[in-house]
Amino acid sequence: MSKNVGQDVIYCKNCGSNTVKYTGNISTLLLAVGLACIIVGAFIPIIGWFIVLPVGVICLIASIISYFFVKKSNFKCQSCKHPFKVSLEEYKIYKASIK
Ligand SMILES: [Zn+2]
Repeated sequence: MSKNVGQDVIYCKNCGSNTVKYTGNISTLLLAVGLACIIVGAFIPIIGWFIVLPVGVICLIASIISYFFVKKSNFKCQSCKHPFKVSLEEYKIYKASIK
C-alpha cells in the first residue's frame, strides 16, 4: 500500500525487501531538535534562555556541520524493521524514482 512499492534503487540489507522508508538523516534531526529547543527555550525564563536555548544553537551548528560531512541517509525496512544507512547519491536516485 506504500507509494514506494516498486522502487528498485534501495533494498533492505537484511532481508532484501524493497519496501523501505526514508527516516531522515542526522542533519535534519539535529535541525529539528535545535529549532525545537530555541522555540521552547525562548518561552522559559532563565533556564530556557541560558540552558535550553544555547543547546538549541549548538544543535543548529552541529546540524550545519553534519550537513556537509555526513553524507548518509537513514532508511528503515518495512518488512523486518531493520534500520540502515545509504549514501546521499543512492538517496537522490531513490527520491527521483518514486516521483
Ligand atoms: Zn528488511
